[in-house]
Amino acid sequence: MGLFERFKTGLQKTHQRLVHEVRRILTRSPRLTGEALEELEAALLGSDLGLTLTDEIIAAVRQAYESQGGQEADVLRIARDQVERHLVKLDTGLGLISGGLTVVSLVGVNGSGKTTTAAKLAHRLQLQGHAPVLAACDTFRAAAIEQLKLWGQRLEVPVIAGAYGADPAAVGHDAVTAARARKAEVLLVDTAGRLHTKKSLMQELQKLHRVLGRQLPGAPHEVLLVLDGSTGLNALSQAREFHRAVPLTGLIVTKLDGTSKGGAIVGIQRELGLPVKFIGLGEQPDDLQPFDAREFARALFEEPQHDGG
Ligand code: GDP
Repeated sequence: MGLFERFKTGLQKTHQRLVHEVRRILTRSPRLTGEALEELEAALLGSDLGLTLTDEIIAAVRQAYESQGGQEADVLRIARDQVERHLVKLDTGLGLISGGLTVVSLVGVNGSGKTTTAAKLAHRLQLQGHAPVLAACDTFRAAAIEQLKLWGQRLEVPVIAGAYGADPAAVGHDAVTAARARKAEVLLVDTAGRLHTKKSLMQELQKLHRVLGRQLPGAPHEVLLVLDGSTGLNALSQAREFHRAVPLTGLIVTKLDGTSKGGAIVGIQRELGLPVKFIGLGEQPDDLQPFDAREFARALFEEPQHDGG
C-alpha cells in the first residue's frame, strides 16, 4: 500500500466526516448562501481544523465563488490547498547520526502511545537496515516495562530495562552503554508520562536527558512528543508544557485512525512550530507513517473518484 492509501485508510473517520458534510451542504445549497457558509464553517471546526484555518478556507471559498460569478465553487479542492499551505514544510523523518549512536527520547502523557510508538519506530528502523535498541525508562509503571519487553521479543529488538521503580536516568545511562557495546545505531527511549505530579515528571525528564547528554554529547538528539490525536486541539496545552520543560525536536501524533478530529494536526504543528515527524494510524508495527503534508491534505479532502491521481 502506498503512503497516500495508508493515510486515506487511517484518516477515514476525519475524511468521511468532512467530505460527507461538505457534500451535504453543497447539494442542498450549491450557491452557498450565508447559512450554508456557516454550516461549512461548523463542519470544518468539527474536525478540529481550528479557527484561523477555517476562516481562511471560508474566505477562499467565498472569493472563488464571487470571482466565478456565483458558479459552484470547488470547496474540497480549496480546503485541500489551504491545509497543504498551512502545513509548513518542516524537516520530517529522524535525523540520524551517521557512523554513531542516535538517541531518540519519546515523551508524552500516559496513554498517548509512547511505548507502542517506540516499538513501531524500532520496527521501521529495522526495515531500513538500522540496528535499534529500546530503553524502558518508564520505570514508574511495571506494565510499561513488560509491554516494551514483549514488543522487543516480538520484533527481536534488544530491550534495556531496570527494575520497577528504578531511577529512569540510571536505566538511560545503562541503555547508552549497552547500545554502544552492541554497536547499535539508534537508541529509542520510552519515558514515563504519569500526570499527577507534573512538576516531578518534568524534572525527571530533564534529569534523564542530562544524564544521556553527559554520557553521549548531543544526546538525546531527537526529543519527540507523542500526542494522542483523538484529543484533537486539546493536546495543545499539554504540548506547550512539555516544550517548555524539555525542548522538543518534533511531534508524533497517534490514534488518528480512531478520530474525526484529524484536522487538529494542522493547528498543533502551526502553533508549536515543530514538525510532525510521524503519525500513528493503528496498533500494528507498520501503522506508523512518516508525515507528508501533501498526502495528508489529499487524504482529508480528496473525493473517491479522484483517488488514482
Ligand atoms: P503510553 O502510555 O504513552 O506508553 O501509551 P501506549 O503505547 O501504552 O498506548 C496506549 C494505547 O493506545 C494502547 O492500547 C495502544 O495500542 C494504543 N495506540 C497507540 N498508538 C495508536 C494508534 O496510532 N492507533 C490506535 N488505534 N491505537 C494506538
